[in-house]
Parts: sequence; structure tokens; C-alpha cells
Amino acid sequence: MLDLLKPPHGPKEETQLSIVKALMARPYLRADLARPTGRVANTISTAIDELRGRNIIAPAKRGSREDIRLMPLTGVAVGVELGYQHMVVAARLAHQSFDEAETEFLENGAAQGRESWLPALVSAIRKVVIKVGGGPNELATIGMGIPRVVDPQQQTLVPPVLPPWQEGENPAAALTKQLARAKDMSVPANLRVRLDNDANLGAYAEHVYTHPHLETLIYIKASTGVGAGIIIGGKLFRGAKGCAGEIGHTMVQPDGRFCLCGGRGCLETLVGADAMLRDAQAMLGDKIFTRPFSVNQLVDQAEAGNPICRRIVRDAATLLGQSIGNVCNLLNPNVIVLGGVFGRAGDLAIKACNEGISRTAMAAAQSERPLVVATESPRATAHGALLLGIDGEGRA
Ligand SMILES: [Zn+2]
Repeated sequence: MLDLLKPPHGPKEETQLSIVKALMARPYLRADLARPTGRVANTISTAIDELRGRNIIAPAKRGSREDIRLMPLTGVAVGVELGYQHMVVAARLAHQSFDEAETEFLENGAAQGRESWLPALVSAIRKVVIKVGGGPNELATIGMGIPRVVDPQQQTLVPPVLPPWQEGENPAAALTKQLARAKDMSVPANLRVRLDNDANLGAYAEHVYTHPHLETLIYIKASTGVGAGIIIGGKLFRGAKGCAGEIGHTMVQPDGRFCLCGGRGCLETLVGADAMLRDAQAMLGDKIFTRPFSVNQLVDQAEAGNPICRRIVRDAATLLGQSIGNVCNLLNPNVIVLGGVFGRAGDLAIKACNEGISRTAMAAAQSERPLVVATESPRATAHGALLLGIDGEGRA
């Protein structure tokens, strides 16, 4: 796998590398390779013939259609979602499909401190690499998603760095070091963990695996914080400093609650997990919830018919929808994918979100159907991180 991802020499190798990377993400019809590679049909055809000649790719029947796929490779691609209270590791061999990926969920995250999450993460990575059929030495690429703004060029956290991280800290660099020191697995000498924002990576995975033909996609990652990942023209849009999509910090209440970001009345202070739990606990009493961040319990209770929890989820999704409606007027997306808490709440959240959108979006900006869908992959961020790891290789 890593041989194929070496930095290219000249335009011919560059085209081949772009095709190989696209096929490591998923199989494509020959005609569909133009979008992920950014190459024209003739250039792609020449490169495909060469790659076939070298026995690197092969056509494969998928129903009545013919995909271009990679021949079996050694080398495991890994993706990590590092949340506040949880971690997800996704892994697959480079030629395997999304369905063949294995994932591991850990109830341990950034809030538990580096001494806790870092060793737990390394052993989960080892476990999942072996589970997909790789040896303990086959980890080849790795990406990581975190709920923070990440500078797309520097791969660092953008200041002000908010808790649980501190100024100068970088979880991807810490994992790179820890992997290099791991005793029961060996990793490539130049292995570097690629870093990005969790909502960006969720959007990336949703675009590649579920909506590859759509031009503009917004992915909403809502849990403790609320962020959006934006795909425009089939590409992830991060902005100059990685700040694009920070919908949770758009102001919706001028004199509202103070927010961690230093702002006031941010959307997140009304629809983030803390705000929803605060409302639920005020109404239902603290004893209903045994853990401080169990917003999933709130959604479960809403689904089970608890009228207060249903109302809280519905009102939050409607408010979120109002903000999304403003985004629709700016970007006119083909689809909005709800992840995190609202993805989990399914139809209840989708209906309320559409209601909110209808209050703020122009008719034409909300005419795509269905405009709002729930994610089909609750592990989208980890899968997007896996894709980021592959994507980051081969840069000269
Ligand atoms: Zn804020």
C-alpha cells in the first residue's frame, strides 16, 4: 500500500497516484473517476491501462455495471475519532470496501486526560488492525478527527485552544509519538497521524461513501458541541484557518448565555448537549440521568415517548434548522446530513429541522428533496479520518 502512495515524480505518476487514492477510498466506475481525481477521461484511461498492466487494479462486476477496483494489498488504513467522552477506531485493508471495515468503540476520551486515552487508543488500534486481517506491523496510514478547529496547513489546533486541550498541545502529534514507541506493533518510520475537525471528516465520509454524486453537502455533527462539515463541488471546504462550518458559534441570541468560545448567545449554548441536558434535568430532576453527558439517554427517552424529552429534542432541532436555513441561503446544498445526537433522533429531528429551515431559507434554497437526512453511519467521523490518512500520503 505504501509503495503505491509514494510521492510522485511528474504528471503521469501524479495522475496514477490520484486514481490509486480514489480507489483506496472506494471502487469507482471508470466514467466516475473524473470527479475524485480532477482529471479528464483520456488522461484517466491512459493511467488505468498502465495500472492494469502493472496488475495494480482490475475491473470487477457489480450487477450490470463494472467497477474499477484495487488488487489485494497489504497495509491497513486507520481512522480515529477522539471525542470528549468516547473514541472510535475504524480500520480496513486499503483495497477493502466500507462494508468490510471494522470499528471499535471506547468509553474513554479527551476529557479523561492524555495518560488515559492515549494508551487505550494505541491498544484499540492494534486490536482493530489485527481484526481486519492485517499483521501487527501492517498499520500504514492514520487520520484523526477532534471536536476543535484545526489549521488545514499546519495541522495544529487553532487558538484559542479550549479545554480539555492546552495551548501547544496536539493530540495527533502525541499519537504519532506513542505509536512509534509501541512495543507490540511496529509502524512505518515516517508515519504521521493526520488531523482534522470531526465534522469535516464526517462530511468527507458521507460524501465519499453515501452521496458521491452530490455537489454540495452539509454534515451536522451535534453532541457536546455543534459543528458543520461542508463539501462544495465534491471537495471539503475548510476555509483559510479551518474555521469554516462553525455553525455552533453563530450568534442566535444577542444577550444569551456566554459560550466557551468567548462569544455570547451562540447556537451551541441553546442546542448543544449541555443545554439540552440542563433543560431536561431542570424539568425531570437530576436522578433521571446517571451520567453528566448522557445526551443519548435523552434521545432514547424521547424515542420511548417521554413528552418532555421529545419537546427538548424537537425544539433544539427546530432552532438548529433555523440556523441551517441561513446556511441554505448562502450555499444552497443538495443535502444536509444530520449526525451525532440529531442523527440518532432520526425522524423526530428531521421533521423539526425541516420546520426550522422553512422559517429562514428561501423557497428555492430548500427545494431539494429530501433535503435533510439522518446519517447512515454513526461512525462517519472515524471513517472520514481513515480517508484523510490515505489522502495525506504521497505528498512530496
Ligand atoms: Zn460560541
